[in-house]
Amino acid sequence: METLSALLYLVASVCFIMALRGLSSPETSRQGNLYGMVGMTIAILTTLALPIVQSYWMIVLGIAIGGGIGYVIAKKIEMTALPQLVAAFHSLVGLAAVFVALSAFYSPEAYGIGVPGAIAKGSLVEMALGTAIGAITFTGSIVAFAKLQGLVTGKPLVFPFQHHLNAALGVLTILLILWLVQSNSSAALWLIVGVSLALGFLLILPIGGADMPVVISMLNSYSGWAAAGIGFTLQNNLLIITGALVGSSGAILSYIMCKGMNRSIFNVILGGFGGESAAAAAGRAGGGERGQVKAGSPEDAAYIMKNAQSVIIVPGYGMAVAQAQHALREMADLLKKEGVDVKYAIHPVAGRMPGHMNVLLAEANVPYDEVFELEDINRDFGTADVAFVIGANDVTNPAAKTDPASPIYGMPILDVEKAKTVFFIKRGMAAGYAGVENELFFRPNTMMLFGDAKKVTEEVVKSME
Ligand code: NAP
Repeated sequence: METLSALLYLVASVCFIMALRGLSSPETSRQGNLYGMVGMTIAILTTLALPIVQSYWMIVLGIAIGGGIGYVIAKKIEMTALPQLVAAFHSLVGLAAVFVALSAFYSPEAYGIGVPGAIAKGSLVEMALGTAIGAITFTGSIVAFAKLQGLVTGKPLVFPFQHHLNAALGVLTILLILWLVQSNSSAALWLIVGVSLALGFLLILPIGGADMPVVISMLNSYSGWAAAGIGFTLQNNLLIITGALVGSSGAILSYIMCKGMNRSIFNVILGGFGGESAAAAAGRAGGGERGQVKAGSPEDAAYIMKNAQSVIIVPGYGMAVAQAQHALREMADLLKKEGVDVKYAIHPVAGRMPGHMNVLLAEANVPYDEVFELEDINRDFGTADVAFVIGANDVTNPAAKTDPASPIYGMPILDVEKAKTVFFIKRGMAAGYAGVENELFFRPNTMMLFGDAKKVTEEVVKSME
């Protein structure tokens, strides 16, 4: 039985690796999801068949309650609320890690790691690490959820000596772990829980709303390592492998997002982004000399685009909010029928989560070969007749290139202003996520199409027809 379960766990692990591989490209993402589902089914069934499982009713009850809640949430959730949902789910992974460690500490015999008061030192280290990472993930994810849901301010909350305090708590956690390993003391374990809960809270508090997606992916990584820690405590190889996969892929994703924003991970973790500097930059941009805002109608846009040779569509967060992707695809189809060359330009951090735009465009069956990454399409704006910016803002803002004081300075942007005409579909003059005004709205070759992205695009389609 042991060999068979090890073999099945190996198959499940391979499925998870194939799932990650598949999810790395829109063309193969469905297949990747399928691999993930097959792997998880094998993992669950194999675990349930292990001889250590002595009773099923508690497990079935847990699956029914958890699965029921998960099903309802997954059905109801809006695409734009996914980041906070992911944060909420991560908090549960963290909490589970703490519970497993505590139960292993109080019933070590059940886990085969010793007896109360004389637990193997290696197991105590695993337990302490799992508890610390789990507790940090738990409170950190709750703060991230509250910020993204708008329950607390998305602004960075900073106070004097914050980083010193966090560093001191980090050192204290390490000392407590050493104490636990030396003494088997329950007080040490509970202090690790308390200090780590406080640390998770304090670590995420100073991070501004604009950096939350990176934080979520970082917490995703922590939750993976916490799960790997549980795997060591439960002596379950699959959990160790899966935890490590989640941990490392979350870390890589955080790195990619930071690169997309041209920020270092330390800069993100140390926080403060999106606060005063953004407000100052917005104020500065607002006060400077600028041209007139030119507002156009959907009919104007339809006429200009129908007579264009090439149109590059730049989707952003507003397209996701308005769910305008289907209308957008219809518009692109009509343009293609007229012989216009249509392409989509995707910025690596457009929207609110990695791949946000790709998922929405795929949902509307936009052909993959029309969708281009920033570095592959940026040169084309210089020869394009129209840049059709739909609900995007920060990812086109030239302040990223010209204003060293801007919070988005250094972020690569889509050079939409190089197109002959630039349309911006948005509801008003509001800034994007980083809180910085976009000077392109005042340029002579820009035409603003004010309104909800879906409504305006539908009207453009109507005018074209
Ligand atoms: P953005 O800069 O946040 O701008 C979105 C614009 O959409 C807003 O200015 C808003 O203007 C407009 N909008 C909102 N609802 C709309 C609706 N229903 N119809 C039409 N327009 C609507 O978005 P972005 O250009 O996609 O940039 C993404 C931002 O998120 C960047 O700052 C990026 O650094 C940050 N971020 C993203 C990720 C990621 O993984 N994708 C990670 C970290 C950070 P109005 O209110 O005037 O309509």
